[in-house]
Amino acid sequence: MDNKENLQNKRIGIIGAGPSGLAQIRAFEALKERGENIPEIVCFEKQSNWGGMWNYSWRTGVGKYGEPIHGSMYKYLWSNGPKECLEFSDYSFDDHFEKAISSYPPRPVLFDYIEGRIKKSNAREYIRFDTTVRWVSYDEDTRKFTIVLDDLKINKTYSEEFDYLVVASGHFSTPNMPYFKGIETFSGNVMHAHDFRGADQFKDRNILLIGSSYSAEDIGIQCYKHGAASVTLSYRSNPIGHDWPQGIKEVPLVTHFDGDTAFFKDGTSEDYDAVIMCTGYQHKFPFLPDELRLKTKNNLYPDNLYKGIFYNNLPQLIYLGMQDQYYTFNMFDTQAWLARDFMMERLELPSEGERRVDIDTWLDRNSKLQSSFDDVDFQTYYIKDLLSFTDYPHFNLDKIAAMFKEWLQDKEENILTYRDKTYQSVVTGTMAEAHHTDWMDELDDSKERYLYGAEEEELIPE
Ligand code: FAD
Ligand code: NAP
Repeated sequence: MDNKENLQNKRIGIIGAGPSGLAQIRAFEALKERGENIPEIVCFEKQSNWGGMWNYSWRTGVGKYGEPIHGSMYKYLWSNGPKECLEFSDYSFDDHFEKAISSYPPRPVLFDYIEGRIKKSNAREYIRFDTTVRWVSYDEDTRKFTIVLDDLKINKTYSEEFDYLVVASGHFSTPNMPYFKGIETFSGNVMHAHDFRGADQFKDRNILLIGSSYSAEDIGIQCYKHGAASVTLSYRSNPIGHDWPQGIKEVPLVTHFDGDTAFFKDGTSEDYDAVIMCTGYQHKFPFLPDELRLKTKNNLYPDNLYKGIFYNNLPQLIYLGMQDQYYTFNMFDTQAWLARDFMMERLELPSEGERRVDIDTWLDRNSKLQSSFDDVDFQTYYIKDLLSFTDYPHFNLDKIAAMFKEWLQDKEENILTYRDKTYQSVVTGTMAEAHHTDWMDELDDSKERYLYGAEEEELIPE
């Protein structure tokens, strides 16, 4: 059998049709467009649509088939980084919207953009929606993965075999929910950021948020914007440290609760109406056995992944998007292109020992990072490394790194206005347009309002 025939007989399973899983499909489609043969691809997605996190669900807890809800996004969620930092280099914002838009679009607009690229091909055919991957095993003799699947719509369990498995199931879905003494005596709402669906319900309420990262920062300013009486952010390691407007403050970590009163490490205490745990997420793969499961916290270089994607003990098992993320869509693309070339047998990996040395070098670099700027440079360098092996259309990473640093400064200058800033695309050179309304005054996050504005309703296509 020649190599081409051999490839045609291979089967690739992808778990998840979020931005990472879709990037994997897109990487193969790019070859197909050039007239090349590709292996059989099947992507399993437990939701009824693609987009992963960007596929908003009003539900919390479980979905219509009793599966845990994946989405952690909420109404009024706007991009928290400039869109120019995540732009696909093979499908620009100009390609999609055919006009300049602002640098910080709301969720429905980014969902539309993600969908735009993948809709250009027949990618939907590869995806089995409403299908949960229940269990995976690997047979050393046949060198195949067996995947046990639940077709949720017809309540049927079945299994299939694959030569490669791409895990693109995300890692911002299973809440990390710490316990604080006495919290069971709190009479108000206690929730995790995963279940937060919009700030409206907290109007005129005194809210306590625990955590000091992106969720705490953004849910804090959302609640402020939508009329919360007060917002307190309680940090464990370091405060976020912005110059907060009156009505938002940071305090050290909660020590305990007594009824509706929270007590803090600095000896102060205060009464609250609701507590939101912005305490991050767990990397959780309930469908993977011990020996195949990535075990990591949220960091920039998870251990045991060669080039950040190949499971070192078994590189046919590929994880996408498992890093903490400054870069998102374009990083997933570079990972997916590299993974594709390995699965297409165009890229040979070094020995397990050599891969281990490479991983250790990255871990060592990671352990020396001291500031957010260092983090940005690290992830930039990581993507440059991946790009050097693939034909993903190159883009100016140094310029993106500079944009990330400017973004960090913009937030420090004014957390309420940073989303009004504009940046220049490295893909097309287009300068973003300022949004028609300042972010603080914009209460409508719909695509129509965003693209056409309030006064121009007649421009909205039917
Ligand atoms: P996900 O988007 O999480 O997709 C994973 C997919 O796998 C889901 O569709 C899920 O249903 C499916 N899946 C999981 N388990 C199974 C299973 N067992 N069987 C079948 N299917 C399964 N990034 C930005 O760039 N800008 C932002 O502004 C931004 N905001 C964010 C806000 C929040 C609240 C969160 C949590 C994340 C945000 N992110 C943002 C990061 C976001 O995670 C990435 O943009 C992106 O969605 C990651 O893509 P992914 O495909 O790796 O994972
Ligand atoms: P995260 O970045 O992993 O941060 C977790 C936070 O929880 C850290 O501050 C951590 O504190 C704290 N924490 C963990 N355990 C704790 C404990 N036991 N007690 C007190 N604090 C604890 O998670 P995240 O903030 O949820 O962000 C996840 C992703 O969502 C990011 O990619 C982010 O960009 C995205 N996001 C985007 C938006 C948007 O506006 N578009 C909004 C929200 C989230 P330590 O520092 O002490 O570890």
